[in-house]
Amino acid sequence: MNSQELLKELIWFDTTKCFIDGAWEKPVSKKYFELFDPSNNSPICKIPRSNKSDVNLAVQSAQNSLSSNWGSFSSLERGRILNKIGLLVQDKIDRLAKIESLDVGKPLTQSKADASALARYLEFYSGAVDKIHGETIPYQNGYTVYTLREPHGVTGHIIPWNYPMQIIGRSVVGALAMGNAVVLKPSEDACITALAFGEICREAGLPNGVINIVPGYGNEAGEYLSNHPGINHISFTGSVEVGSKIQQNASKNIVPVTLELGGKSPQILFEDADIKKAIPFLLKAGLQNAGQTCSASSRILVQDSIYSKVENLLVKEYKNLSIGPAIQDYDLGPLISKKQAERVKKYLSLGEDLNQLVTLSLENNEFEKGNFVSPSLFGNVQPDHVLAQEEIFGPVQVLIPFKDEEEAIRIANGTKFGLVAGIWTKDGSRQMRMAKQLKAGQVFVNNYGAGGGVELPFGGVGHSGFGREKGFEALKGFSVIKTVAVNHG
Ligand code: NAD
Repeated sequence: MNSQELLKELIWFDTTKCFIDGAWEKPVSKKYFELFDPSNNSPICKIPRSNKSDVNLAVQSAQNSLSSNWGSFSSLERGRILNKIGLLVQDKIDRLAKIESLDVGKPLTQSKADASALARYLEFYSGAVDKIHGETIPYQNGYTVYTLREPHGVTGHIIPWNYPMQIIGRSVVGALAMGNAVVLKPSEDACITALAFGEICREAGLPNGVINIVPGYGNEAGEYLSNHPGINHISFTGSVEVGSKIQQNASKNIVPVTLELGGKSPQILFEDADIKKAIPFLLKAGLQNAGQTCSASSRILVQDSIYSKVENLLVKEYKNLSIGPAIQDYDLGPLISKKQAERVKKYLSLGEDLNQLVTLSLENNEFEKGNFVSPSLFGNVQPDHVLAQEEIFGPVQVLIPFKDEEEAIRIANGTKFGLVAGIWTKDGSRQMRMAKQLKAGQVFVNNYGAGGGVELPFGGVGHSGFGREKGFEALKGFSVIKTVAVNHG
């Protein structure tokens, strides 16, 4: 069975339509584009290329839902419906995972983890929504002052291709929990599970218009959405370059934004680290989804005295990695597109002056059809080398030796990013000192979560962005505080 036939067996909704006002609608644009299976570049389905009119309809429908049904739902009612959506996602984990593997090129086990994470986000936020509230504030005699936590209104969500289900979970679900109505613009490179999510919301009985999905190109549907005067908050996950544009667009309408951007996240191993425990984390955090992860640990900093040992162990692990079509669940699948594979190969050519410790052979016809790139590990890299500074977004890790704590901090903080960092040491005081000094939105000590669990606030500093999603922090971000001062004199 080819990829297109396999996808046809898996989908139970029409991928050629937009999801607007609770129904599947042909795009006003009457234009479509094709999605491809990254494992072999064969076309798998047609997707609407939404235009300005499609985005207008989506925003209008979200606005209507706020002034009719959704706006009057209590937090308990919102929680219950999110819970129902979560149970439906849970029932469909295997199916959603296969769809994701065909669309994103992500190995099946990893796609299953993403689908499970989406179900878990729905479980978490359905339970959290009636446990977040305002406060009473002591003020002058004769007054009672309290705060109300209210939704922004219509939230726009522009998401990338690398973790569609996880990002819907942390961004769209958080926004819905707080009573916002959503317009979602998924990526033009992978968007089928986003459409599946719309259908699941419909099946669960989410009122019409509460979620609207307009697939399309970034410079069309994405631009219209981020410029739209009817949007009250934008959550963007993607590249630094586009994030900066989104912020400029939002500023024209004085709209708050959350920017979840890229990273060059370090893991730092001190000589007292439990190396055996660390190795699987170093590997997984760098190579999961073929390195196309914002929180990928693409820099591994190792203290001089244990450097050779760590290098040897990692080389051994790299040599055992398997690569192949995503649906067959190898350790690594292909990259999302030819363009992305070319981008990574260009970076690898900039590392020709470096000590490339291992690269796997891809001499097989099967590999030629897909966007496969061999995982690459570089040793003894200078911290200011381009491969140690820029986000490559592929299966590439660099090893950087360091002398002491001070140097480790200087190297770790020496890029423009600050998303996640990992520290491996048994010394409790050092753990605390390092965690305080590291420039990152999340710090893991003796583990590395690559983004962390659903409960843990996530987001960056510097060029990694600002605002926090996941956990209760997301609920704060997707709401605004209104202060009420009552003079009962
Ligand atoms: P991208 O910025 O090219 O695209 C992201 C989304 O923005 C897509 O939906 C795209 O259509 C849209 N877009 C593109 N141009 C636009 C424009 N002019 N106006 C409005 N929308 C536009 O990023 P990508 O290539 O899809 O994803 C890779 C990047 O995303 C990496 O840099 C990665 O680090 C980052 N990322 C960050 C996180 C995080 O949580 N911090 C998570 C995943 C990915």
